[in-house]
Amino acid sequence: MFNFLRPLALLCVLGSPIPLLAQQSTTPPQAANLPALKAEAVAEIDKMQTLTQQMVDQIFSFSELGFQEVETSRYLTALLEKNGFQVERGIAGIPTAWLATYGSGKPVVAFITDVDCIPRASQKPGVAYHDPIVEGAPGHGEGHNSGMAVNIVAALALKKMMAEHHIAGTIKIFPGIAEELVGTKAFYVRAGLFKDVDIVLGSHVWDKFYTSYAMGNGEWSGLVSIQYFFHGKAAHAAARPWEGRSALDAVELMDTGWDFRREHLRPAQRSHRVIINGGDQPNVVPSEAAVWYYFRELDYQHIKENYDLGNMMAESAAKMTGTTVDHHLIGSAWPIYFNKVIAEDQQKNIEAVGMPQWSDDDQKLAKALQRDIGAKEDGLRTKVEPLEEPAKNPTGGGSDDVGDISWNVPMVYLMYPANIPNMPGHSWPNAVSMATPIAHKGSIAGAKVQAMTALDVLLQPQLVAQAWDYFRNVQTKDVHYESFLSPDDKPAIDMNKEKMEKFRPELKKYYYDPTKYKTYLDQLGIKYPTIKAAQ
Ligand SMILES: [Zn+2]
Repeated sequence: MFNFLRPLALLCVLGSPIPLLAQQSTTPPQAANLPALKAEAVAEIDKMQTLTQQMVDQIFSFSELGFQEVETSRYLTALLEKNGFQVERGIAGIPTAWLATYGSGKPVVAFITDVDCIPRASQKPGVAYHDPIVEGAPGHGEGHNSGMAVNIVAALALKKMMAEHHIAGTIKIFPGIAEELVGTKAFYVRAGLFKDVDIVLGSHVWDKFYTSYAMGNGEWSGLVSIQYFFHGKAAHAAARPWEGRSALDAVELMDTGWDFRREHLRPAQRSHRVIINGGDQPNVVPSEAAVWYYFRELDYQHIKENYDLGNMMAESAAKMTGTTVDHHLIGSAWPIYFNKVIAEDQQKNIEAVGMPQWSDDDQKLAKALQRDIGAKEDGLRTKVEPLEEPAKNPTGGGSDDVGDISWNVPMVYLMYPANIPNMPGHSWPNAVSMATPIAHKGSIAGAKVQAMTALDVLLQPQLVAQAWDYFRNVQTKDVHYESFLSPDDKPAIDMNKEKMEKFRPELKKYYYDPTKYKTYLDQLGIKYPTIKAAQ
């Protein structure tokens, strides 16, 4: 740990005392063997193909919505404890969240990836048409069931190598709880969970193998997700309507106001809503009604402006209708911003690992599904992508609450190829590949890149220093993180409770049992791939 063999001239921390940074600012001797160590990590990961397949399939079968990832978290924390990680449960006041740690001292490398699924996306894996496991139930129609295999398999390989080769440092593993609600990362940050972390290596399922930096392809927005609850007064809607005050009227007036105002907002904004309570029956003036809004924009200032505008419209609608309103923040996310230095390093590892070898059956499934949903029929990708340059004119698009982390610590997001291209996202087609050899192979490829990049971080202090230099002097030079959370905001831990309670008993019948079946496809009796006869 204290091998001061090659003090780095580059790392002159101007005017500040050096001793505390000494561990980090000295290149460990093992760095000379980095290529051999990476080859060893890859070999270790190849030995864990069965574990990878089991984790991917197991979490797929649990199919748990955000904040209700009870079985998933129980399974993962038990697995990590069995493998020598220390686990802290219930972090940041979120019952299904946890933190697993191995090792000690600097540098601290954190892995993060999501675990929650999508409402109504239940789907039999390996079947190239809509065929739910449980009709109407949640399912992994985004592919979040694969990320933990990527990160944990990488971490297990690293742990073994850190012990054998006396590599100093700490590995932390976080779950992305309720990512589909962008519901937790701002709370993780508020709880100080990233204060001692040097580099964050996130991973996310995709149909491409790539990484990016800054705002990436520009198709990302930040957002505030907020529910407005209007309270009026019930009355007989025909006999005495003048005595009532309709909460539903307020919802409709707010929506109308927002729709008119939308024309005069910046083109980059995206906003949408669902009415979560529209009253009970027409002959009762609705005393309660509620609407749920997402306000998206490209930067903090514009998100905040639209959030304030939404709040003003809610208040105004309440005034117009003689009702009252209160709010409940469900989630928030800063726009993502990834670290250029680590992304460039990660890119080399992506290129070294390369795409998985897809079988004819993998391609057959991909093309049949593309055909079935009327998408472009070009099968699975066979080449890794070049490093994505940041878009000059960002358009905005989806959001991910890792954005908040990325403004607090240098972070990259590895997109690994475990899904089929040209899918609609957030629905059953995106679940089809997610417990098949496509997801298993894609996750193995992702794990290799995670482990290789972590070795680069653990053994090259100059890389960490350069990443922080970019973070401090480029990324956050003029932009300073400010949370969307008010001190009173709490994680929305009761979300999805009823939906899970409704479907869990039925889903339980289909939980994957690796002691009886080699794969989940075997357990479900699915021939791989299953394609419509007429095709
Ligand atoms: Zn996601």
